[in-house]
Amino acid sequence: MATNGELPIEPHKTFDTILVLDFGSQYSHLITRRLRELNVYSEMLPCTQKLSELSWKPKGVILSGGPYSVYEKGAPHVDPAVFDLNVPLLGICYGLQEIAWHHGKNVLAGEKREYGHAYLDIQRHNSGAGHIDELFKGLEDNLEVWMSHGDKLSHLPDSFVTIATTSNAPFAGIAHTEKPYYGIQFHPEVTHTPRGTQLLKNFAVNVCRAEQNWTMSKFVDQEITRIRKLVGEKGQVIGAVSGGVDSTVAAKLMQEAIGDRFHAVLVDNGVLRLNEAQIVKETLTKHLGINLTVVDASERFLGLLKGVKDDPERKRKIIGNTFIEVFQEEAKKIADAAAGSSKAGEIEWLLQGTLYPDVIESISFKGPSATIKTHHNVGGLLENMHLKLIEPLRELFKDEVRELGTQLGIPEDLVWRHPFPGPGIAIRILGEVTPDQVRIAREADNIFIEEIKAAGLYRDISQAFAALLPVKAVGVMGDKRVHDQVIALRAVQTTDFMTADWYPFDGQFLKRVSRRIVNEVKGVCRVVYDITSKPPGTIEME
Ligand code: GLN
Repeated sequence: MATNGELPIEPHKTFDTILVLDFGSQYSHLITRRLRELNVYSEMLPCTQKLSELSWKPKGVILSGGPYSVYEKGAPHVDPAVFDLNVPLLGICYGLQEIAWHHGKNVLAGEKREYGHAYLDIQRHNSGAGHIDELFKGLEDNLEVWMSHGDKLSHLPDSFVTIATTSNAPFAGIAHTEKPYYGIQFHPEVTHTPRGTQLLKNFAVNVCRAEQNWTMSKFVDQEITRIRKLVGEKGQVIGAVSGGVDSTVAAKLMQEAIGDRFHAVLVDNGVLRLNEAQIVKETLTKHLGINLTVVDASERFLGLLKGVKDDPERKRKIIGNTFIEVFQEEAKKIADAAAGSSKAGEIEWLLQGTLYPDVIESISFKGPSATIKTHHNVGGLLENMHLKLIEPLRELFKDEVRELGTQLGIPEDLVWRHPFPGPGIAIRILGEVTPDQVRIAREADNIFIEEIKAAGLYRDISQAFAALLPVKAVGVMGDKRVHDQVIALRAVQTTDFMTADWYPFDGQFLKRVSRRIVNEVKGVCRVVYDITSKPPGTIEME
């Protein structure tokens, strides 16, 4: 642990932080994200958080929406200590109802549910305590907002005034007359509330007085200091890299913090993209100075995949388990070598590129029986090798990781790379994975991505790849009948990968890609484009 007895500094200890207490709304994480976009640091914790157990003090607290009704038996309630914290409060939807409930139990089921767009009339007070008008300051008197509720306040709680109404909600916005407490019935965090970000800024910056200093350049310095303290003078860290943005950014951060005491391992499983192992090696060692070992285990993986035809789950399991075996063997070698050298200690840590959405997923409030997701993949490694976990990106959203990557000098191409699945091209080769099938899938994929980049579409698309279908079709090439395979192209747009839509390429583009693949990739005589959205399709094909 920290060498000088101090605990490593966490962002909420040094950045002004707005605490979001999550009551289970599907939008809760967006509140945190919007605040971060305003350069205000924010963290989310479940609504059950006991405030006396917090080791830091927030600058303000936001109570999120949630699917429950405050008056129901068993409904979640905030720790009443939140009202003694002496910091501004904003309740959103369920959060508004929760504030009202605390101030007199005046919430009931409305006769009319309200979902979707609504028009808000702002009521300004221009008198009394100065904070009352702050929430809507600088905003128009009529605002378009997004509603999603069925309950309503029966009357105004004591000491509150109305600051906004809609035709259906007489208490669409309320404020306490003395304390900086606000409640709003609509959701400012969703893009359907066009001026929502300004409202959140009014709350965080003007009311809470949070400094807008959360930037990746500040985070970098602080995180490097934190890693150094955590790992100590001699500690060593090992971690797998994949060529993707998360593992590369995490690896570069480790390299900046502890240099060669960080050991990166790239396992070539034989189903990476075309020339991938070579490209990753070049970038990580030559450009980024990372201490990297590449293990070529392609024959081992392909040997194990031989004969696996109709069971995609088996492919995934074989690749996942073999990856852990290979990584562990390599880690032992590196650990033994490290133990023999005088300048370094043992390998004590395993680097993991966990991001904030994974953390949120594991802590978000899912009702009385909240389930906690475990990092099943690394669990075994941590135990077998007696390692501790280090997760330098666990406070960051994906867009922040990208910004951090740019700050750290990681090439643009890599920073904006599409995600690539762990089992790689193996799950894009439907049917048996053989060396020749890998060649076909790789070459076709490479042409597709090359053309997407040349057309300037790469960033517009969230994920794209070529898949090889396990069927043969008839074609005619050079006047000769051929009986060859079919490539399916897939390209999707999505913001969260939970739902996705296929990308509307123009016909000329598809024509160009199809012609190149059929001409250049031996064994392919047809190209099709997958026009299935998610759901019902998944992004990958297996
Ligand atoms: N369940 C509450 C209602 O229906 C709150 C809904 C919400 O927070 N989105 O009014």
